[in-house]
Amino acid sequence: MTAYVSAFDLFSIGVGPSSSHTVGPMRAALDFARRLSDSASIARVARVGCTLYGSLGATGIGHGTPDAVVAGLRGLAPETCDPSAVRAAWTEFPVGGTLLLDSVQEVAFAKEDIVFAPRTRLPGHPNALTITAWDDAGDIVSEETYYSVGGGFIRRDGEEARVAASPSLFAYTDAASLLALCDEHGLSIAEVARVNETALRDEADVASGLDAIWDAMAACVDAGLHSDGVLPGMLKVKRRASVIRGQLEEAESDGHRELPGEWLGAFALAVNEENAAGGRVVTAPTNGAAGILPAVAMYWWRFLADSGLAAGNAVTPYGELVGSALLGFDGARALEAPAGDGGDQAVAEANRRRGIRRFLLTATALGSLFKANASISGAEGGCQAEVGSACAMAAGGLTAVMGGTNRQIENAAEIAMEHHLGLTCDPIGGLVQIPCIERNAIAASTAVTAARLALRGDGSHYVSLDAVVETMRQTGIDMSTKYKETSEGGLAVNVIEC
Ligand code: SF4
Repeated sequence: MTAYVSAFDLFSIGVGPSSSHTVGPMRAALDFARRLSDSASIARVARVGCTLYGSLGATGIGHGTPDAVVAGLRGLAPETCDPSAVRAAWTEFPVGGTLLLDSVQEVAFAKEDIVFAPRTRLPGHPNALTITAWDDAGDIVSEETYYSVGGGFIRRDGEEARVAASPSLFAYTDAASLLALCDEHGLSIAEVARVNETALRDEADVASGLDAIWDAMAACVDAGLHSDGVLPGMLKVKRRASVIRGQLEEAESDGHRELPGEWLGAFALAVNEENAAGGRVVTAPTNGAAGILPAVAMYWWRFLADSGLAAGNAVTPYGELVGSALLGFDGARALEAPAGDGGDQAVAEANRRRGIRRFLLTATALGSLFKANASISGAEGGCQAEVGSACAMAAGGLTAVMGGTNRQIENAAEIAMEHHLGLTCDPIGGLVQIPCIERNAIAASTAVTAARLALRGDGSHYVSLDAVVETMRQTGIDMSTKYKETSEGGLAVNVIEC
């Protein structure tokens, strides 16, 4: 058994606003519909309904959960759907309308067939939903309970959690055994992740898949930086990323120096505003925390990568710590981007892509530890599990592409997580907007600070990453359910919604 979770599960391309409340329930409903199709019993189904329990029942409407369930029942998948087809699938479901189950079977459905049961918590997980299909006589054709366990991952009741499985996988269970594995084989953390990914799929698919994840992240940053207006929901939150982009571009065109720290915040706001608007988002490792990794990676891509990569040992904000190590990707042939034939620009672009792959693989190896040994779900562990985990992953990824050692990477992740311990989840109105959007910008800057501190040290430190992960797990257990994505405490009850 290994803690490793594939990058292609941890970073899935989906829709906003929530991985646990939108993407997971959509996958559950799709799985339910597909099972009916595959068993041919779909022809007997006359009506469908769904009960949303616990946190899904408490904040489901704000997170678009019923819309996601209806979209999934229709056969839409988060990875491939048009996000606009999900947004109002339940909210604007017509009175007297019918639903085309898995695109093949027309069945009766009304908005009231989604039942909200926030006070009922199933023992399997705080995010649970039961989907039922009935025949003409009112007898049950099929009924399944699913748990949306965070990051868009689902588990069907009675099934074991899915884990990466291959005899060629490098198995590790915690940060200590990951570092020992690296020492034993002389590998970086990214290289361990690369070996594991290539045990699960072709090398070429790993490289192109990581590039596709980055392209989706970058497209989301770009979309958010160029979208104005007000976000959906009763809070009427104004989008700010585009305004800040305009201000920064104006300041820079006036001859002021570049403002990387301010761009970092704008990148994070951009992603989380896209997420809140139900746009195309990459879970990283959740939707609520989706802005941190793309923001930190984009910060490196735009402000640090070329100086370090193109010049080899050039002085960057990390000074002597950035060196020729960046030019190599641990000899991982298949993960090297093509050298490019368009001159310096193409070479720089290819080198940046290699860096991003390294960033994502390092973040994957670290994120797996949080998922296996604590949680990445706000409903299970509060915001420390979502934003804290994403911040630690980003800090480790940045440290890796800045030429940090494995122990510096582990140190950076530990610093980032340590200072999120105890962070509660209390979104106002159950919307992934306040405090979530700004919180991603703050966490992105914490990730950069954590990487800077770790890179200035030699990797030795007092608190281990494993101790922090275990502390996060215990704190999550002790945390009142009021602070775990129920909107029953904190900001959610102290700020008047208007
Ligand atoms: S407060 Fe944190 S955990 Fe809760 S929805 Fe917002 S980002 Fe997610």
